Amino acid sequence: MNEYDSGRISDITNTIGYNLTDTLENADCFIINTCHIREKATEKVYHEIGRAKKYFRNKQKPILIVTGCVAQAEGSIMLERENYIDAVIGPQSYHDLPNIIKKIERDKNKIDITDFKTIEKFDTLKNFKNLNSKVSAHLSIQEGCDKFCKFCVVPYTRGPEYSRPFGEIIDEAKLLVRNGAREITLLGQNVNAYNYKNKKISHIIKEINCIKELRRIRYTTSHPIDMTDDLIEAHHTFAKLMPLLHLPVQSGSDKILKLMNRKHTIENYRNIINKLKSKKPSIKFTSDFIIAYPGETEAEFMKSIYLMKKIEFINSFSFIYSQRPGTPASNLDHVDLKIGKERLRLFQLEANKIKLKYKKSNVGKTINVLFENQMKDGKYFGRDEYCNSVLVEANENIVGQMRKVKVNDFNLNTLFGTLSQIKKDSHNQAA
Ligand code: SAH
Ligand code: SF4
Repeated sequence: MNEYDSGRISDITNTIGYNLTDTLENADCFIINTCHIREKATEKVYHEIGRAKKYFRNKQKPILIVTGCVAQAEGSIMLERENYIDAVIGPQSYHDLPNIIKKIERDKNKIDITDFKTIEKFDTLKNFKNLNSKVSAHLSIQEGCDKFCKFCVVPYTRGPEYSRPFGEIIDEAKLLVRNGAREITLLGQNVNAYNYKNKKISHIIKEINCIKELRRIRYTTSHPIDMTDDLIEAHHTFAKLMPLLHLPVQSGSDKILKLMNRKHTIENYRNIINKLKSKKPSIKFTSDFIIAYPGETEAEFMKSIYLMKKIEFINSFSFIYSQRPGTPASNLDHVDLKIGKERLRLFQLEANKIKLKYKKSNVGKTINVLFENQMKDGKYFGRDEYCNSVLVEANENIVGQMRKVKVNDFNLNTLFGTLSQIKKDSHNQAA
């Protein structure tokens, strides 16, 4: 989401003459777009500001703006603590940046805007073309969250659930494809909670599935309770919808899920997985786990490992519980950090075994790869249907192409292969 937001920030600041630079020493304006989801987020921002200060030691002070969820959570406290900052702007107010920057240029006043102006934001943003020209593009369709899991800061920093107007999303998808996108990932903190005048995410998928040059559709992040039957059916119906779903479960224990206020049980979760598998036998899953949530015993932790192994998530993202200021869980008694770290180590050890076994199972197979860019060493980078990173050598520029690749080798994070003889795979819409 922050990557999408940063792109949009670049689109709108372009209109007042600020363009992206690769040489930070020359920058006139520094915008630090921040995430507050886990530990030490605020300290990282001050660290970045410290780096910016070094760059500009010998020059006139550049404008320095902090955007995103740390700005939202900290607000004016940041302005008081660090005089170098000119403005703090929350994630629902960044559409105003052209005016804010002009104001700072003019009056040099400090600015703090942390209102939830989500409707106004998207209303304004639609007037600025999305200039993203990446092969794999993000498209924000929903923001915010009303679910209030007890550990999570999102409902407080991104604000309440909001769904963008359906037509605007379709227009932006078409624009991204005209710009060169061949894959679109629909984004939202609860992307499958999307609901705009009874249009659901399955309607968006149906509509953009018809855009001819678009080859792949993904969506993230989903909440289990919003995996409705129409969306499950979409995995069967729409060939461009990729057979990989990121469905965070957080814990394998019903007791912990209840303490977290997750609103689903392990049985609910496994039913969803089974339904999806029956509709789309090739589907695979990835998930998020929080380790050592307050109250987690050894037995409950082992249930997370059990679930991870049972479902064979091809990628499990795991984090030690991180206390977030202002969230209900922050008042609970913590699991000892040493125990937490040991559980995380064990969990990741087991998760990586599954991941490695899965990566290995690809060797010898021919997979469909959408190529995204060329690496510094000349190799081409792409992803297969399951989002695996793939590297190949090629004699021609294959960026933007869908090609068949025979996998020869692997490591934990990457598949290595050779391009198949068959040229461009223009018939395989599913790929
Ligand atoms: N909306 C998604 C998750 C968004 S946050 C969902 O409901 O599943 C992304 C991930 O960050 C979460 O899945 C969770 O695993 C992790 N996370 C969020 N808050 C956290 C915290 N306080 N400590 C550790 N991990 C956290
Ligand atoms: Fe956070 Fe996701 Fe829970 Fe919302 S549903 S509170 S974003 S973890």
